[in-house]
Amino acid sequence: MGTYARNPVEFVRGEGTRLWDDEGNEYLDFLAGISVVQLGHCHPAVVEAVREQAGRLMHVGNLFYTEPGMRLAKRLSDASLGGKVFLCNSGAEAVECAIKLARRHHPGGDFVVLEGGFHGRTMGALSATPQETKQAPFAPLVPGFTAVPREGPPLPLVDAVSERTAAIIIEPIQGEGGIHPIHPQMLAAARDACEETGALLIFDEVQCGMGRTGTLWAWEEAGVAPDLMTVAKGLGGGLPIGACVTSPELADVLQPGDHGSTFAGGPVVAAAANAVLDTIDDDAFLDAVIAKGARLGRGLQDLGLEVRGRGLMLAFACEDGPALARRLLLDQRLVVNATGPDTVRLLPPLTVSADEIDEALGRIAAKT
Ligand code: PLP
Repeated sequence: MGTYARNPVEFVRGEGTRLWDDEGNEYLDFLAGISVVQLGHCHPAVVEAVREQAGRLMHVGNLFYTEPGMRLAKRLSDASLGGKVFLCNSGAEAVECAIKLARRHHPGGDFVVLEGGFHGRTMGALSATPQETKQAPFAPLVPGFTAVPREGPPLPLVDAVSERTAAIIIEPIQGEGGIHPIHPQMLAAARDACEETGALLIFDEVQCGMGRTGTLWAWEEAGVAPDLMTVAKGLGGGLPIGACVTSPELADVLQPGDHGSTFAGGPVVAAAANAVLDTIDDDAFLDAVIAKGARLGRGLQDLGLEVRGRGLMLAFACEDGPALARRLLLDQRLVVNATGPDTVRLLPPLTVSADEIDEALGRIAAKT
């Protein structure tokens, strides 16, 4: 179906931060499949884990236990909120699970979301995505979602949350909306509002999590922990997997029969995710992400660009983002994308080298 405005490029091979098209041209990839190939293309540890698991056991479904999924769930919980984990196949599904859990916890409850947020394309996740162009063609949406401003004093957010609220859903750094870090005061106000009313705080870490910002989860930086967290994208290192993680208090809200998915948490994707976590859940690796992000951010500023974001989740303002992204792709063979008319987004693999950062900066300099 014609759901994507695709670029006129066909990729056939990838290695680290490099991609090759069907004519043999080499590209520098500063998009990483939109923050998915966190360790670069075809990272040997991920490839080996997938090969090994594919030859051992690919699928039995969730009527049974399998070791890679159980190990992954335990690691995700230990590394974040300490409760239980629902494994799924995508970011939108992780958000659906969080929405359902919040409704189960607070029957009939409403949701508060931030303007500019993006949580996915399924009907529940879309209803949490207050963007007219994305929502309007699919109305009526799931009722009960209210959007409040993401910037300025947190008063509208606090006013919108009441005893009727099931949950507040926030991306700590908005990704699709154009790389906008949410002010720590806003996150803290959301936390306080939840404490007062009994609503749940859901952080959507689908794009900003998995080490992207230099901490394993973006919320760590603000020091505000959620009750539920959604993860996907970078988790599988290139394979489709997502997760919804609870706090210990919410571990048993969803009961047998409440939710499920045939493919979710299968052994092959879980083996890939375990291999990704082996590398990313490491202080030295995450410190390097901060250093590399600083190098990229400084370099962009030196080009006179206005930069937003944290770690290796960066964007710069420009006049015609889509045209610039296209020129960078086709003329400079640098893969980036525009999140709107005035923003170009950079999400390189977390394994990007200093030399590759400098090379990308040179290609951007040639076009800005
Ligand atoms: N949440 C956030 C923050 C996202 O950035 C995205 C995708 O861009 C989603 C949810 C939806 O994820 P998926 O496309 O895997 O369904």
